[in-house]
Amino acid sequence: MTDSDYSYLAGNWASVRERVDAACHAAGRDPADVSILPVSKTFGPDVVRAAMALGLTRFGENKVQEIRSKAEALAGSGIDWVVIGHLQTNKAKDVARLASEVQSLDRLELAEALDRRLQHEGRAIDVLIEVKTSPEESKHGLAPAQLPAFLEALRAYQSLRVRGLMTLAVQSEDPEAVRGCFLQLRLLRDAAREQGHDLTSLSMGMSGDFPLAIAEGATEVRVGTAIFGKRVTHV
Ligand SMILES: *Cc1c(COP(=O)(O)O)cnc(C)c1O
Repeated sequence: MTDSDYSYLAGNWASVRERVDAACHAAGRDPADVSILPVSKTFGPDVVRAAMALGLTRFGENKVQEIRSKAEALAGSGIDWVVIGHLQTNKAKDVARLASEVQSLDRLELAEALDRRLQHEGRAIDVLIEVKTSPEESKHGLAPAQLPAFLEALRAYQSLRVRGLMTLAVQSEDPEAVRGCFLQLRLLRDAAREQGHDLTSLSMGMSGDFPLAIAEGATEVRVGTAIFGKRVTHV
């Protein structure tokens, strides 16, 4: 296969960037303030390589095992791997070695394990705290009420640079319900800032709901399907 087999990626990427920019304009925001994290989960190294040819260098993945195999296949290409999925503590070692950022930090036990492994590697990484803003059992994240104490406790872990918050909105036909999740995350960040925590990032919004997230202040949207197409493997 040659790169031209993935020529649809350029069109998809341009169209997502255009829709993100339009959502920014509609919200009176500067498009430069909203980045797009391409979510490459379930797609192989060839697809990631083709996306890199478009200038993309950060990729979101939800399984450490997948980061491991793609990082190996694409060794030396300078990709920043971003963990966006629920993270088991026993994966901390691989994360400390391979990831440049974790957006799914949701408990102290994980922070402790990551910090220990990162110190061992002599590295520090950016982290976002995943907050559960929707009622579904299947969703992970810290309970909103626990955020202030969690932020205080994280001060102890010097290899974790806490940059902001991440959430997945409720899966709903009702845009107001979805928007409510994004609003909640923004308010939590603003409250944390008032408590003296230097949080800026809000990672929220995916292929199906990113305009609403941008309207509520997202600084990063995580987009898989709209860039790479439908995933065959269910995750
Ligand atoms: C898969 C995934 C995305 C991207 O979802 P799409 O609907 O394909 O854009 C975003 N965030 C997380 C945490 C994911 O697991």
